[in-house]
Amino acid sequence: SGTVLLQVRVAPLGLDKLLVLAEDRTEARRVEAIRRDFVVNVSHELKTPVGAIALLAETVQDAADDPVAVRRFTERMLAESQRLSALVHEIIELSRLQVAGALQAVRPVPVRDVVDEAVDRARTTAAGKNITITIGGSVDSVVFGDHNLLVTAVRNLLDNAVSYSGPNTRVGVGVHERGGLVEIDVVDQGIGISTEEQQRVFERFYRVDPARSRDTGGTGLGLSIVKHVAADHGGDVRVWSEPGKGSTFTLRIPAADLPVHDRSASSSES
Ligand code: ADP
Repeated sequence: SGTVLLQVRVAPLGLDKLLVLAEDRTEARRVEAIRRDFVVNVSHELKTPVGAIALLAETVQDAADDPVAVRRFTERMLAESQRLSALVHEIIELSRLQVAGALQAVRPVPVRDVVDEAVDRARTTAAGKNITITIGGSVDSVVFGDHNLLVTAVRNLLDNAVSYSGPNTRVGVGVHERGGLVEIDVVDQGIGISTEEQQRVFERFYRVDPARSRDTGGTGLGLSIVKHVAADHGGDVRVWSEPGKGSTFTLRIPAADLPVHDRSASSSES
């Protein structure tokens, strides 16, 4: 009956309009399916830490007169609730990106500021594993967009680089401008990703090794957030990787085409 309704509605329209309407319906169905998938995944992912916390709480009640056990189980409860909180934060972030689509306030953003802030925040975790983060490349690239979202994207790539690398390794961030695109490379010497997995790591909740990802506090949402931020800025994100050697994630955003006098003004100041 849906088809009949469609025919009746489009009868007075031309063939081109009919095709547009049909496409709209396919697109609407696709979006609806993605949304439904997301809700199912979210419920599943939330149930795991919530269930773990409940179980740990019961265990603590049973072990109330054993202070060592109480300490151990409450520490695990704390870890699980931190994971839960990170997960909720990322789900909200991703839903906002999915719903809003377009950026709210777009302004010229110096890429170096984004990289500096993201690296600053990642340094503490990196220091714990004695991983050095270095910054290289051209310094004066500018893109149009949202500073905070771009920091989140670079930060997610850096957090992964640190999480999936061994101690005493190096992580490099490079900024280059090529063919009108600003490329931000995050290079690590970590465990790497096989060719088959490379296709999938940008999917929501996808993890190569769920157990390891859980240990590192991973949610499986980091790279899909990066993908959305890139797309919202008219760019993309790619990966090169060799298992056992390391990975390079490249975020590419169109360079801001600032008027020539702006560029010379900013470079003569420095
Ligand atoms: P997570 O929160 O699990 O890190 P992400 O979406 O950020 O989720 O990444 C998805 C998966 O991709 C990770 O679970 C991990 O298996 C793999 N991955 C991401 N970045 C790297 C990297 N730099 N090196 C190796 N594997 C990575």
